[in-house]
Amino acid sequence: MAQEVAAAKALGIEVPQFAHHLSSGHIQFINDHFRFQKELLGIDKGTLYFPQTNEVVFGFPKIRRILAMRNLGMHFKKPFYVEEKLDGYNVRLCKVNNEVLAFTRGGIKDKYTAQRILQHMTGDFFDKHPQYVLCGEVIGLQNPYQEKGYPEERDFGFYVFDVREKNTNKPVSAEKRYALMKRFKINQVRSFGLYKATDWQALLKLTRKLGDQGREGIVMKSHDIGMQLKYTSNQSTSKDLEYAFTFPFDYGQAFFFRRLIRQGFQASELNLTKKQLDHEAARIGKAILFPMVHTINELKKGNEVTEDFEIEVPDEQFGREFIEHLKKMGLVLSVRGLKKGRASCKFRISRHYQATNDKTKAYLQGSLSSD
Ligand code: ATP
Repeated sequence: MAQEVAAAKALGIEVPQFAHHLSSGHIQFINDHFRFQKELLGIDKGTLYFPQTNEVVFGFPKIRRILAMRNLGMHFKKPFYVEEKLDGYNVRLCKVNNEVLAFTRGGIKDKYTAQRILQHMTGDFFDKHPQYVLCGEVIGLQNPYQEKGYPEERDFGFYVFDVREKNTNKPVSAEKRYALMKRFKINQVRSFGLYKATDWQALLKLTRKLGDQGREGIVMKSHDIGMQLKYTSNQSTSKDLEYAFTFPFDYGQAFFFRRLIRQGFQASELNLTKKQLDHEAARIGKAILFPMVHTINELKKGNEVTEDFEIEVPDEQFGREFIEHLKKMGLVLSVRGLKKGRASCKFRISRHYQATNDKTKAYLQGSLSSD
């Protein structure tokens, strides 16, 4: 009970509220910390409380999306920073009880990610700044969450885009963060510098150019990080669709709808010629149809469609434990191959998408859809 009182106090909420959500399972106690399994009482999902050190690591806040860039002036009254939005998975890195830990967006402790990041993070950042949480994107192919290789980082890389204080969640200003990461030689997302709201057409062009390079888009941030907006390229949205339509029954319908709407707004603001618009339409259509036809054809041949990825770990046991951890998180996985090297070990893993495989097979065998 003493822990719950301390947790509620540190989080600024009432003890009975904390106790209520703990008993309903929305706040969980895992080994040595509490975790917000969803957003509650204005506290972000993935927020963590560590009783031993009486510390809070807040969940990473939601970044809203702008659809019509011409309205940027409604959200930014002063010049703002523009950074590249990398497409990977969100990780918070922090030091608690003398150990540097990595947490996913949902607040799950991830030993694999911590180990991979720390392999390359030399320097003593957390010795000098134990109060800070480094929020960054992991990109590259060697992970179970999001596989997108970047030319600069095919396998695995961690790029900081935000630095926040434990307990208060106060962000470090953009300029201070840029200097801090540079000083400690920690990778950070590209900053394109300061822009004004009236530059919105230049930002549309920049996003388009990033899209042509296979990159996702931008995040716009006020100096003090009080306001952040994201904007992503149509090319990248099509890539998302293409991926999701490989496993259409495993994605919620909202996933597809939101992405189609984004494409409409961007295509309109880009003022495309008829020829360019045709091209845009063809890309979206291909992103929907090609992967679905591929999936249906594979099932017709009696094959299963899976997502295959690789992880690189220090040894076999580490890998097996991480796979068990992922299975407990609800992923259906099977190991396809194991390559043991001198200093590390690589696992090839398949992720199974049950709903897509089962439903597609059932329709192929004659099941009827009720629509
Ligand atoms: P959200 O809940 O914030 O909407 P989401 O899971 O829908 O998140 P996205 O739509 O991809 O994710 O956009 C937000 C995410 O973008 C952030 O949580 C962060 O992981 C990632 N990101 C990549 N680059 C940056 C950057 N430069 N600044 C801020 N976030 C970035």
